[in-house]
Amino acid sequence: MNLNITSNKSRTYDAIVVGSGISGGWAAKELCEAGLKTLVLERGREVKHIEDYPTAMYNPWDMPHHGRIPLAEQEKDPIVKRCYAYDEATSHFFVKDHEHPYVQEKPFDWIRGYQVGGKSLIWARQTQRWSDFEFEGPARDGFAVDWPIRYKDLAPWYSKVEKFVGISGNKDGIDSLPDGEFLPPWELNCLEKHIQQRVKQSYLDRQVIIGRCAHLTQPKEIHLKQGRGQCQARHLCYRGCPYGGYFSSNSSTLPWAAKTGNLTLRPHSVVHSIIYDEKKQKASGVRIIDTQTKEMTEFYAKIIFVNAACLNTNLILLNSTSNRFPNGLGNDNGILGKYVAFHNYRGAGGGTYEGFDKEYYLGRRPTTAFMPSFRNLRKQEADFLRGYMVAFSAYRTGWNRNIHSDAFGSDFKRESTEVGPWGVFIMMQGETVPQEQNHVRLSTEHKDAWGIPQLITSVGYNEPNDTKMVQDFHHQASEILEKSGIKDIFMYDTKQSPGLDIHEMGGVRMGKDPKTSMLNAHNQLHHCKNVFVTDGAAMTSVGNQNPSLTFMALTARAVNFAVSELKKKNL
Ligand SMILES: Cc1cc2nc3c(=O)[nH]c(=O)nc-3n(C[C@H](O)[C@H](O)[C@H](O)COP(=O)(O)OP(=O)(O)OC[C@H]3O[C@@H](n4cnc5c(N)ncnc54)[C@H](O)[C@@H]3O)c2cc1C
Ligand code: SF4
Repeated sequence: MNLNITSNKSRTYDAIVVGSGISGGWAAKELCEAGLKTLVLERGREVKHIEDYPTAMYNPWDMPHHGRIPLAEQEKDPIVKRCYAYDEATSHFFVKDHEHPYVQEKPFDWIRGYQVGGKSLIWARQTQRWSDFEFEGPARDGFAVDWPIRYKDLAPWYSKVEKFVGISGNKDGIDSLPDGEFLPPWELNCLEKHIQQRVKQSYLDRQVIIGRCAHLTQPKEIHLKQGRGQCQARHLCYRGCPYGGYFSSNSSTLPWAAKTGNLTLRPHSVVHSIIYDEKKQKASGVRIIDTQTKEMTEFYAKIIFVNAACLNTNLILLNSTSNRFPNGLGNDNGILGKYVAFHNYRGAGGGTYEGFDKEYYLGRRPTTAFMPSFRNLRKQEADFLRGYMVAFSAYRTGWNRNIHSDAFGSDFKRESTEVGPWGVFIMMQGETVPQEQNHVRLSTEHKDAWGIPQLITSVGYNEPNDTKMVQDFHHQASEILEKSGIKDIFMYDTKQSPGLDIHEMGGVRMGKDPKTSMLNAHNQLHHCKNVFVTDGAAMTSVGNQNPSLTFMALTARAVNFAVSELKKKNL
């Protein structure tokens, strides 16, 4: 018995964080800085900053397939191959479909990164604040439930996160895309500036800005203290950046947490479920399966942060059953797993531009131009709900394009060294409306390699709303390009499945009323107060902005609350 007590003690911490990705890294940093002995449980392998980025400095000819994924592997993993960032230099940071199957009741491309750092290694680093146009969206338009917080509740936490992460951007003074704590912005190129001018002349409600992104354009002391340096504009980020030029958990929050001496990071630990103590009426810890020994072990803590990324967080809570919670932890109202939403990326297009022949640009800028949402913003003006952000970039065709031409010998050489005309690519990032039928649940038939039920995804477009939004984007984007003098304009519907946006959110939504939501205004489970969910699962609606900055701000805010509740002995 004594031995057991000692053993339990050695597995007891002040706090447990499930997942070491973008949000889990923030939970770890904040908890450790607050003095809590914190255990981070990560299902994947360790990825150490710099030393575990094997391909970071590769040239195309250093790789057997010059960066491409061989056909046989593409056939084996048909889902992940659809992700634009998945290639020979980055594939080791992506989950292979055949190793981690799930059940698609409706087509859903679930793109995952199972390793220390999660998807923070492979994200595209675009970071925009939400505004009250998003927080007030559900109440205004009558969908989902009202958010229990507003922009003012999150604004100081956005600032805190931005200063530490390092966000480059311009103070544009746009109320639907609030300014943040910015490092110097990247620059629009000449054609993008031209489009910016034309948009300004043609529309009162639209602005073109340079993308705000998690890149150190001019590191400050806080970034140098993290051991990170200036971004070199190489845009090879998805391989891991040895300069620490972009934000990842691996380069930033996790080493920072480790420096406090309060962090224990345990890779190879798949969290199976959260343990509910019926007597104490709170969670006492988690069960994990060690992927190397296959053994199940329990770890204990006063508070638990679940940051396994949206769908895995849903899975863990659904799998956390007890006498008190037979349908999943905190799931008295039966909405756990429901109201999953995502971003509508189906609209895309482009064109070419005659002119600026002598104009070039330097380096590979790791962001694009954006137009903050302008549709249905101040009033309902279209026959679909909500709006979309527009992203576009202008580039010189040539270097790549000519290599694929029919030219041969000296013609081929000449063509390969000459730049072609300017091209423009434009795309949408639209808000979808959470629907009860868009849900995930556990399979009763299929289990994963560790005996955990597989997830069933039943998430689809909300028609006709989502298609109408695509059509509107096509119309508006064509008009914008036309007014900017762009020729050969084309528009298309990618028809991609939900999930490929990699912005899945919901299932454990926040709300004011325990009858209709899972979490309160502090991301605390209404019915199990010492469990916090601060990743995308917590989102009541999805806005049109890239979401990760909001996950980080929600996390920092929730940790602050949890620590103060602990001090007051409320948890
Ligand atoms: C190609 C690409 C481009 C993107 N671009 C952007 C962008 O520009 N802007 C933006 O805001 N977002 C972007 N995203 C999305 C962004 O990566 C996610 O929103 C973000 O990483 C979510 O953070 P998270 O902490 O919830 O999850 P993750 O970063 O995925 O971390 C979750 C962690 O939990 C671990 N885990 C899962 N299940 C368990 C378990 N049972 N037990 C233990 N550990 C577990 C995982 O292994 C992982 O390490 C992009 C993603 C990709 C792949
Ligand atoms: S663009 Fe910047 S962040 Fe990306 S790999 Fe290059 S130096 Fe690193």
